[in-house]
Amino acid sequence: MRSISIFGATGSIGQNTLDLVRRDRTSYKVTALTGGRNIVQLIRDAHEFRPDLVVTAFPELLPELKDGVSGLGIETTAGDMAISDAADRPVDWVMSAIIGVAGLVPSLNAVRQGSTLALANKESLVTAGPLLLAEAAVHGAKILPVDSEHSAIFQALLGEDISNVERIIITASGGAFRDWPQADLAQATPAQAQTHPNWSMGQRITIDSASFFNKAMELIETKEFFGINETCIETIIHPESLIHAIVGFKDGGMMAHVGPPDMRHAISFALHHPKRQYLDVARLDFTTIGKFQFFAADEKRYPALRLAREVMRKGHLWGTAFNAAKEVALDRFINCEIGFLDMAVLVEAVLCDLDRAGHLNTMPRDLQDILQADQSTRHIARILNV
Ligand code: NAD
Ligand code: MG
Repeated sequence: MRSISIFGATGSIGQNTLDLVRRDRTSYKVTALTGGRNIVQLIRDAHEFRPDLVVTAFPELLPELKDGVSGLGIETTAGDMAISDAADRPVDWVMSAIIGVAGLVPSLNAVRQGSTLALANKESLVTAGPLLLAEAAVHGAKILPVDSEHSAIFQALLGEDISNVERIIITASGGAFRDWPQADLAQATPAQAQTHPNWSMGQRITIDSASFFNKAMELIETKEFFGINETCIETIIHPESLIHAIVGFKDGGMMAHVGPPDMRHAISFALHHPKRQYLDVARLDFTTIGKFQFFAADEKRYPALRLAREVMRKGHLWGTAFNAAKEVALDRFINCEIGFLDMAVLVEAVLCDLDRAGHLNTMPRDLQDILQADQSTRHIARILNV
């Protein structure tokens, strides 16, 4: 029996993970489940999966959580420290699926315990890639990417020597506004940005897909995880979302990973690696699909991609600041304080400010340096006018 913990259990990735665990209940011992404000879901999952511990990020919700699981003998805790402590409990496998930089500490603590880390939280790599990989190496922890593009790259690279890789192409669906005229984008509302043509995901990542900030994060994630030079990483729009990534080798051959847009594939791969398990996701019929389309991703239309290039080139604290500024820009867009196109304008302005003040070009020594840069970036991003 394998022991597992799921951080962000009530979210889109968390629920898909529990769906896989549910099918094979006797193979897993659930140690910890964590969630945020969706206490009803957390209580339901606690009743079904009987973890040792359930945690909510929000202390004011602890009484409701306690009440909901009373009599089950399940420990309940709340707050950021409680989530960090939950990740200190040694288990075989950890799903890191909290949204945002709040997922970084659980990812780090999990690898420090030597657990296998299934990494959905892309912010961990974007804000602290070198630190996370170094800690994993020191503690002998395996990291398996769960973002669909990165799981695809990982699978295309099985048995390959990374030094033979010439290019990596990650695909983008184009998000909610793929077919909108550029002139209309300034008026796009949060509700409109929240629909995705192919994938069913959490609210924030869906809006990030429309703005291409999600793809920007994924470019940086690719560079950090696979240690590939920025110039070798590309993105293209592929409206069908069936090819998730393509790896090109120095002999001209390419390996493309193809599959239905269903995150359970990448989660299942990470859960069972190095084995594979039967999964009832849709099977593709190529004669019905007919064609795969590809379009260039225009960096003028999607400035987040241009910013990601700069972040990848500069390294140091650029990724941390980029993510923090993007998270605040997204909050401000959701709260209708700024327009859709202002998100990229704000992120660029914040990065320029911090760079001018000389705050971005030092190498973070530890988690403290990263969290400090995250906080000071958020402060500027909240007050800057665009
Ligand atoms: P979601 O919004 O559906 O769920 C997020 C989870 O994190 C929930 O359990 C929520 O309660 C919890 N949470 C939110 N704020 C928190 C905080 N401050 N502290 C602790 N917990 C908090 O998000 P999601 O779509 O499942 O995405 C999770 C992560 O996986 C993100 O990093 C996202 O980029 C990545 N990812 C998601 C998908 C997808 O298909 N949804 C695909 C690839 C990568
Ligand atoms: Mg992805």
